[in-house]
Amino acid sequence: MSQFPQAVSFRSNAAGALNDSSLRAAMRHATTTFGKKRVDAIGNNPFEEWREKASEIRTDVLNNLDEYVEMFSQNATRAGAVVHRAKDSVNACEIVASLLKDHRAYKVVKSKSMITEEIHLNAYLEKNGVKVVETDLGEYIIQIAGETPSHIIVPAIHKSRQQVGRLFCDKLGCSYSEDPESLTKTARTILREEFLSAPAAISGSNFAIAETGSISLFTNEGNGRMVTTLPPLHIAVTAIEKILPKVSDLALFMRLLPRSATGQVLTSYFSLITGSRKEGESTGSRHFHIILLDNGRSEILRGDCKDILKCIRCGACMNVCPVYGMIGGHAYDSTYPGPMGVILSSVLNGLDRAHPLLDASTLCGACADVCPVKVPLPKLINRLREIKVERGLSPELETIGMAGFGVAAKYHELFELGQRAASYVWPLLSLVDKQTIDRLPKPASKSLKRRVL
Ligand code: SF4
Repeated sequence: MSQFPQAVSFRSNAAGALNDSSLRAAMRHATTTFGKKRVDAIGNNPFEEWREKASEIRTDVLNNLDEYVEMFSQNATRAGAVVHRAKDSVNACEIVASLLKDHRAYKVVKSKSMITEEIHLNAYLEKNGVKVVETDLGEYIIQIAGETPSHIIVPAIHKSRQQVGRLFCDKLGCSYSEDPESLTKTARTILREEFLSAPAAISGSNFAIAETGSISLFTNEGNGRMVTTLPPLHIAVTAIEKILPKVSDLALFMRLLPRSATGQVLTSYFSLITGSRKEGESTGSRHFHIILLDNGRSEILRGDCKDILKCIRCGACMNVCPVYGMIGGHAYDSTYPGPMGVILSSVLNGLDRAHPLLDASTLCGACADVCPVKVPLPKLINRLREIKVERGLSPELETIGMAGFGVAAKYHELFELGQRAASYVWPLLSLVDKQTIDRLPKPASKSLKRRVL
């Protein structure tokens, strides 16, 4: 049993995922496809220049976050939105529930939003008698499957179309089909009714624009537009760091985000929402509320992992990560999986719970190479590993082993003796942790120096 009972059981989750051949096949297909499409979409464009500029903008936002949040709040209010500040997830859920209650709304349609996953909003609302309908196809699939997203951009990445066909059959009572077009049509018919009858909607925001107080949404299915224009009440939940200073900054992020996320040159639907519906306008919510969520971000900004807040949630680091690509998102048992998830989960949920996730990295650096805003992911994982050791969260055997190595490394006779001994006991160590030992080179019984001399 783990020394920390509440810690994520990453090793056993990962072992389970590795034994699931259909999961492995679905992950391999999806991550390879996205990786290839990303490279094609970047083509000969000056990607390095773009990401350098994007990194500068995101760094400026983090360095001046209080001012930008204030500017955003003032401009959004001026445009007709009501802005709320939520210090944590409970506070944010309470605000949403009370707005729905005020509007007598017992059903909401939602567009895909990782921030609402972070605060477990659906479970909170359902406990309070509100029916929540996810309208992004991937989110809809995992909602009826009773699961959580396995990827921040492609929530049902782990499912094959045959699995989705069987799920629709079981849960929706339709006849079996594994044809994506027919499955989409089934979902669309159901969701269309929900859009038209829902009194309220909830969305996230890809970026919040300080200059105008607008929120922006990048979607591929048009559901985001239905959610934010049809129901009379729209509640947008956004993390405070999702701000961009100016509308003109969007041009750069419109190039970077779809290319990095799904390998598209441009997103299919882009919405910029500024305030509630005005006199003479025919669409848009009549009541528009924006919840700016902190949930520990102010604290993260003061720490060593501040740079993780530059993240624009494109998911590119997941698609290239050799660990994520083998096990999928559920093994992380956390809202955010993959390289960015390892870091964000550690700083949001605390190392006591998230420290086993720090093993989910080979530090190969592929994630940092693709990140469109230059988050130094391996550097942050390394720093968190240092903190894990400083706080005594490593397994006892590892701590003893590293202490022994530290002593041996100081004295070369001791080192050679240890190396010789290790070469004899190596096959036995394989009985303790075969997966690790088999990947390491077997120590030589005689050092190179001894062989040469
Ligand atoms: S860390 Fe970078 S690559 Fe990973 S999701 Fe965030 S922006 Fe994308």
